Amino acid sequence: MTGISNNHAIYVSSDNVIYSFEKGLNPSKHVTLPATLILETKDCFSGDIKTEKDTMAEVDYSTLNPSTGPIYFNNVKPGDVLEVKIKKIKCNSPGFTMCVPKEGLLGDMIKKPITKFYNFDNEKIEIDNTKVDLKPMIGVIGVAPAEGSIPTNTPGDHGGNIDTTLIKEGSTIFLPVFVDGGLLALGDLHAAMGDGESFFTGLEVSGEVEIEVKIRRDLKIDIPFVKSDDIFASIASEKEVHKSLKKAMVKMVDFITKNGDIDFYDAGFICGLCADLQISQVVDPLKTARMAIPTYILRQLNINL
Ligand code: CA
Ligand code: ZN
Repeated sequence: MTGISNNHAIYVSSDNVIYSFEKGLNPSKHVTLPATLILETKDCFSGDIKTEKDTMAEVDYSTLNPSTGPIYFNNVKPGDVLEVKIKKIKCNSPGFTMCVPKEGLLGDMIKKPITKFYNFDNEKIEIDNTKVDLKPMIGVIGVAPAEGSIPTNTPGDHGGNIDTTLIKEGSTIFLPVFVDGGLLALGDLHAAMGDGESFFTGLEVSGEVEIEVKIRRDLKIDIPFVKSDDIFASIASEKEVHKSLKKAMVKMVDFITKNGDIDFYDAGFICGLCADLQISQVVDPLKTARMAIPTYILRQLNINL
């Protein structure tokens, strides 16, 4: 299996993983920005699912969502923003997906656990003769929170398990920094996943990610945002989906009033007329939603991403 090659990149192997985001953890690397890194990642169950006979019974719950890192960025302080451009995502074939009773949106209708492995070397995932397109994305990406310890299977204001399909090749994610060095980690790659991660998992894979990281001191954010194609989205996680939706809008309105010169009501009208509320995932301990605004709006507000 050939990985991503870039002689200028700092390589971090998947021997360096964390299972929670917190400030006390030993960094696997100290890096001065701007920098390009390649992070090797394990799958979301640390390789415990090896065949279609394996179910959640084989999964060691102490090693859920291994996330490669944490990376300490020199001179990065609380209040800064990390700009992380996703240059490449390499997913290792095959990947697996599962359904599990009581998990996912249809958990009450699932009578038995089923695990499926799919090869996608030919660029498609074939489910009973129906071909599904690959859509590589990163499930977990985040930084240490100001206080406490957040397991890597939980999303939040620090990022983490936000399972957002917009976090893909070519996108840029903006993460608020809460502790010295930021302590970035990422993992949980999916070769494909629909918005919602509705049936419980994506096509779970190990792999590699190449990122380009910079410090941004001009942006004011306190939750993750992502720029992808021609939209810019807030990424909000709360216990219930309707609360995540509201938070996604509150944070978007907040962003354009603080970073552009516009008042609350006009920001609300603009969002009401052209921003899309979207669901990221409904299967994790907190649910994640986003509000996506077209970047042509931001350009008119002199917000340069
Ligand atoms: Ca995930
Ligand atoms: Zn996953």
